[in-house]
Amino acid sequence: MKFTELGLSPKVLTSVEAIGYADPTPIQQEAIPRVLERRDVLGIAQTGTGKTASFVLPMLTMLERGRARARMPRTLILEPTRELAAQVEESFNRYGANHKLNVALLIGGVSIADQLKKLDRGVDVLIATPGRLLDLFERGNLLLSGVEILVIDEADRMLDMGFIPDIERICKLLPFTRQTLFFSATMPPEIQRLADAFLSNPVRVEVSKPATAPVTVAQFLVSAGREPAEKRAVLRALLKQATDLTNAIVFCNRKRDVAILQRSLARHGFSAGALHGDMDQRSRMATLDDFRSDRITLLIASDVAARGLDIPAVSHIYNFDVPTHPEDYIHRIGRTGRAGRSGTSVTIATPLDRKYVGAIERLTGQPIDPLEIEAADEIAASRYGSRSRKSRADGDTPVKPEQTGASDGPRKPKRSNRRRSGGDESKRPAGNEDAPTHASEEAQEPAQDEPPRRPRDERPRRNRSKTKVEDNQTPFGLSEHVPQFLLRPVRPAS
Ligand code: AMP
Repeated sequence: MKFTELGLSPKVLTSVEAIGYADPTPIQQEAIPRVLERRDVLGIAQTGTGKTASFVLPMLTMLERGRARARMPRTLILEPTRELAAQVEESFNRYGANHKLNVALLIGGVSIADQLKKLDRGVDVLIATPGRLLDLFERGNLLLSGVEILVIDEADRMLDMGFIPDIERICKLLPFTRQTLFFSATMPPEIQRLADAFLSNPVRVEVSKPATAPVTVAQFLVSAGREPAEKRAVLRALLKQATDLTNAIVFCNRKRDVAILQRSLARHGFSAGALHGDMDQRSRMATLDDFRSDRITLLIASDVAARGLDIPAVSHIYNFDVPTHPEDYIHRIGRTGRAGRSGTSVTIATPLDRKYVGAIERLTGQPIDPLEIEAADEIAASRYGSRSRKSRADGDTPVKPEQTGASDGPRKPKRSNRRRSGGDESKRPAGNEDAPTHASEEAQEPAQDEPPRRPRDERPRRNRSKTKVEDNQTPFGLSEHVPQFLLRPVRPAS
């Protein structure tokens, strides 16, 4: 099927041709004619399938008639993250190069005054994250009664981030007669309920089974011990052995770990930038820009920050942490192998991750192939503390701790280790990247870079039966946080 057969306007076809798309992708073939018929659409598609153009192109065609009025946007697109919202804005600018439409972005972290100015001039397309939209609505800066088309994008991620109540509120503020286009990569029951409530007799367009791993991505699994320093060493070895790596996204489960890993990689001479939810909008955009324009090779990111990013030519994905929600695995590896290109994903798994790997394999219906670390023997031989090498089955590939990083010395046992078995990933607060996503995480990462520590057997031993300080003994009850003066040898009074 050709773009010319979909019913798009000549202006839109001209820009599609200028961009160089030969044929519509499956979701575009299915969705575009339906959107143009003004039907509600329930699109089940992951990013990388061309779903953005599947709503942007027909919207451009439909927006050619009519004009915007002050503070009354004609169409509204809801995105879960600022980056995604900015990306959709970019798509409008790209695909709408021949249109003179006013597109406004309402996202947190940027000046509200500029956003208000745009709204006052009247916008054809308003792209927003739910929080900022409701904020401006409540201040009376915005009227939603003129919205003709509503797009809810990445609905399952909205669910993960706790935005569903906001979405429900927003939907109730819009005219009943609007057209709704609803996209989600997966359809958990909560999302189905939302779709049932807010779509009217929708056409269901499904381009691949929910949670299908892209076939163009070669997937591998590498075993590592659970110490963060070991995992970092494994990651460095993997990065060095990947001769075909042009750029990569490295995913961590928590934003705190993103920062730690980025600093560690930078110290080891890798060109790496960080992307996580705690960064201000400007730094996020700057990092993304650096990555897109190859000024940095590695993007260390959390799920929330990286969701749906359109970076067309990523060669590798590394899961520094195994995602605890198997759907996140699909989304992560979907960042590579896009638009028919091939890609590689490597997941570093510790023995504690076995059940999460199992869940991923069940969801994708295929086992993930093991990958050998080329430097494994060398790493094992020089590994600090000479822990014996174990089989892949128990997942502990010995590695040498980093010598240069302050945070990478041998670790003290953490208090949180003792709580490991009590964790419950299902209790993770929605949208909180910093909440541990499984029980082992808290134990895995240092709260901050720690100074190099003495080898274990040189360190003071703990004597739980005594409270007084003796040579080489740590007072019981202070955990590891013992003031230095208490550790000095006690000289008996002469
Ligand atoms: P999306 O799923 O919307 O994130 O799009 C993924 C990538 O596919 C983007 O880089 C688009 O530029 C690209 N793309 C979208 N439609 C087409 C098409 N018909 N042919 C080739 N590439 C496309």
